[in-house]
Amino acid sequence: MNAAQDTTGPSPTDDSTRAALLVIGGGPAGLAAATAYRDHGGQGEVVLVSDDDTAPYLRPPLSKDYLQGETAEPDLALAPESDYAEKSITLRLDTMVTAISADEGRARLSDGTQIAFDRCVIATGNAPVTLPVPGADDPRVAYLRSLEQARRLREEAGTARSAVVVGSGFIGCEAAVTLARRGLEVTVCSTEEIPQAQRLGTDAGERIAGWLREEGVRLLGGVEVTAITDGRRVELDEGGPLEADLVLVAAGATPRSTLAVAAGIPAEQGRVLVDEHMASEVPRVFAAGDVAMAYNTGAGRHLAVEHWGEAEAMGTIAGTTAAGGDASWDSPPGFWTVIGDHTLKYAAWGDGYDRAELVDHGDGAFTVWYSTDGVLVGVATHDADDDYESGGQAVLRGDRADPAVSAGTGS
Ligand SMILES: Cc1cc2nc3c(=O)[nH]c(=O)nc-3n(C[C@H](O)[C@H](O)[C@H](O)COP(=O)(O)OP(=O)(O)OC[C@H]3O[C@@H](n4cnc5c(N)ncnc54)[C@H](O)[C@@H]3O)c2cc1C
Repeated sequence: MNAAQDTTGPSPTDDSTRAALLVIGGGPAGLAAATAYRDHGGQGEVVLVSDDDTAPYLRPPLSKDYLQGETAEPDLALAPESDYAEKSITLRLDTMVTAISADEGRARLSDGTQIAFDRCVIATGNAPVTLPVPGADDPRVAYLRSLEQARRLREEAGTARSAVVVGSGFIGCEAAVTLARRGLEVTVCSTEEIPQAQRLGTDAGERIAGWLREEGVRLLGGVEVTAITDGRRVELDEGGPLEADLVLVAAGATPRSTLAVAAGIPAEQGRVLVDEHMASEVPRVFAAGDVAMAYNTGAGRHLAVEHWGEAEAMGTIAGTTAAGGDASWDSPPGFWTVIGDHTLKYAAWGDGYDRAELVDHGDGAFTVWYSTDGVLVGVATHDADDDYESGGQAVLRGDRADPAVSAGTGS
């Protein structure tokens, strides 16, 4: 093997499985890859290995309706169980791929078995960043990525009276409002003065702050966590400490690319480098979703994105390409977030802007147009779907910003 992470287990000769396509990861990118491979005539065995204990499921509700207690686990399923049999996709759950060799077309699994593969899609996603301060790795501190973590958080929220959410990114804001709606007294603390101002600008950030405040969430911006004691006491560089029954850290995510990097597959900023077809530089190996740094033909460069819809799109492209079809990634990455009753949609190339112009449509609806050197590079909307649709196209075309700003009327 190029770089085996584990050296135990069977010899390379006693494979238990031979897969035409091995998919590593059971998120939207992995499932979309397996499905698209079949839909485009891909033959042979398709095996999807996931270290999750559940068949592919919807992750976005984990900070929203699932945490609220409004969605049952079966409703999270990404595909009905019958789909796997119909499409001949074999699921290996609760199993981790611990090493791959692209040269030999072989993967080693945590249960000691191996899979020989013709092609492989790496769709291993992200993991939450553990805050680099003392006590942040205490098992009583909650993190949110997997259904298993969400189950625990949901249960603990049932008895807790208060919560501190560390981080004002989308997952932090969504979870904070959901917890407040469950009756907890919630404080969000963050190094950002205004939630998401760095990404979305001050005006949009202020709107988001308003959405949090109207749900009774207390915001503490411009502070840094220095330690977490006993899993429930958050020490700050200024003021504090904050004490709560429950501490949730939502301080960003990091790509789970160790496997790929150890196998010698080229990566940049910890993400697997792939072209617009999701093919890596190593023959037969593809990557898609949050773990990938993929070339986007519309942007004319590689992009790192962490959005549900894009993970699905990239997975579909990877599976189509692996089956011999033709597909490529070209549109501006988009995502949505639901904070209480407010949905914010955002499409952008994602590498900053020099001007952000908010157009107020009344009744709380708005559009923010982002531009660099007068050229549109992004759009964010709330209750202005027409602007979101037309704005995404305008960003793709590289339209001038001013006509879009003056035409922005909302929907
Ligand atoms: C709580 C929450 C809410 C979100 N809400 C939104 C939203 O509203 N809108 C939006 O656009 N995005 C949202 N996102 C982001 C979105 O879920 C991700 O962008 C998306 O899941 C990425 O898909 P993926 O397939 O690349 O990775 P993932 O969904 O992370 O899936 C990766 C899979 O790989 C498995 N895996 C990793 N390593 C191995 C290994 N070595 N062996 C076997 N299996 C492995 C993991 O267990 C997992 O099954 C949210 C994310 C979270 C956590």
